Amino acid sequence: MYKIGFGNDIHRLVTGKPLILGGVSIPADKGAIGHSDADALLHAVTDAIFGALALGDIGSHFSDLEERWKNAESSAFLRYAVGLIKEKGYAAANVDAVVSLEIPKLRPHIDKMRENIAQILEIDISRVSVKAKTGEGVDAVGRHEAVKAEAVILLEKVEANG
Ligand code: MG
Repeated sequence: MYKIGFGNDIHRLVTGKPLILGGVSIPADKGAIGHSDADALLHAVTDAIFGALALGDIGSHFSDLEERWKNAESSAFLRYAVGLIKEKGYAAANVDAVVSLEIPKLRPHIDKMRENIAQILEIDISRVSVKAKTGEGVDAVGRHEAVKAEAVILLEKVEANG
């Protein structure tokens, strides 16, 4: 038995804010603003899990109106979602994600992002794909006004008694 989920996210970029993607701090002239640490990639993966389990969305679990999630590390959101995967008797089979950012190039950071996500999902890094795109100079990403992420996750039922 499988369940598939999709998640996406977008955060506005401004000067003077850190840029964190997939749990990696990326040197950049603009960072993302949000209630938490604004990690669009981890938010997209987390939302993909809620989607696969049909358990609402990231906003319904971690309201941006709640003070306790202010500046929260997004890895905490993903860890919570992974707890729900286990609670429902599933395990992550694989993840595929796309991060869209105009500058800087993300390639040097991709493997660290994969490693971070794999570790939280408790799966091998070979099951986690993160791809980087630019906005080709068009739309909010292309104008370097936003960072965007999209992710799909496949969950696999864990058989009782092995
Ligand atoms: Mg977000």
